[in-house]
Amino acid sequence: MLTDIMTDGQQQRLTGLIEQSESIVCVCHQNPDGDALGSCLAWAEMLRTVYGKEPQIIVPDQYPDYLQWLPNSEKIIRYDKHREGCDWTLAHADLIFCLDFNTASRTADMESALCGSPAKKVLIDHHLNPDVQTEVTVSRPEASSTCELVFRLAWQMGCFGKMGKHFAVPIYCGMMTDTGGFTYNSQDPDIFLIISQLLTKHINKDKIYRNVYHTFSVDRLRLTGFVMYRRLVVDNDLHASYFTLSRADLKRFHFVKGDAEGLVNMPLQVKGMKLSISLREDTEKDSLVWVSLRSVDTFPCNEMAAQFFNGGGHLNASGGRLYCSLPEAVEVVKKAIETFKEKLE
Ligand code: 5GP
Ligand code: MN
Repeated sequence: MLTDIMTDGQQQRLTGLIEQSESIVCVCHQNPDGDALGSCLAWAEMLRTVYGKEPQIIVPDQYPDYLQWLPNSEKIIRYDKHREGCDWTLAHADLIFCLDFNTASRTADMESALCGSPAKKVLIDHHLNPDVQTEVTVSRPEASSTCELVFRLAWQMGCFGKMGKHFAVPIYCGMMTDTGGFTYNSQDPDIFLIISQLLTKHINKDKIYRNVYHTFSVDRLRLTGFVMYRRLVVDNDLHASYFTLSRADLKRFHFVKGDAEGLVNMPLQVKGMKLSISLREDTEKDSLVWVSLRSVDTFPCNEMAAQFFNGGGHLNASGGRLYCSLPEAVEVVKKAIETFKEKLE
């Protein structure tokens, strides 16, 4: 049914590493999203259930409230809150699973503890250009999500049959969030085969959807309306748009982390729109603007993110950052759109 994603050699090495290791840690990227947390939680669940391990999950920093219902999320340790303990754990680990990131710098302040650890490492990820020293690398940029890869690995290792809801729920959550509820980057028929398998574990997919997407505060809903009304700039000829979120705007609507999530997808609801860019001022650091890009069809957000916004990502969903003021960031956006004009017209 599902094609294997590891060679026999890789599978043997991976299983050997798990069996030989006492202390196992799963880590993901900063600002963990549904896929980052979902893949850590599901993989850890498999290591516990099938291999009898006691893995720890360490995430670099805060994750959104709308993911706190995920089973076992209360066991997740935040690096920014428990730095000393996490440094010790990472330094004394036998095996570290790096999930949903391609390069150690995506773990922010955790980078040096991660790189400095003598533990063996395994990377499971779907971003381009993996760049972590590992024993085993499973890098599939064509995959919808790291959660999809975790499923495929569990499947290939013959573990899926032994897994229950606590495995299936985070997997579904990560696949759903990384594909915008299966509206992009989810054309592969295998994705729906995987979902059908997950449903056999009695997950409630509608509830997972509501838990993630229907948790707005009134402030968040009003922020959405405000941004679309007052801050959205549309270039009709180039089928591109951008909007800004200044610190003052964020304060006005009592911004909490996650409130801006998904906003960047909204302009793509306009007929014919090909590209949407959001610029959000950091709530604490000056001269730091977070950039998110979304596109449809073949427009390469990741190329634009790499060329103009110190970032990268996937064809239709990418991110990055600019180290300048918001008005200066707007100028960079205008230049980026102008440069990619031919692909937008
Ligand atoms: P978001 O807009 O949600 O922050 O990011 C969209 C996608 O782009 C995510 O899949 C994320 O992993 C990826 N991404 C965001 N920032 C970066 C970056 O700096 N480098 C790379 N390679 N990918 C990024
Ligand atoms: Mn992901």
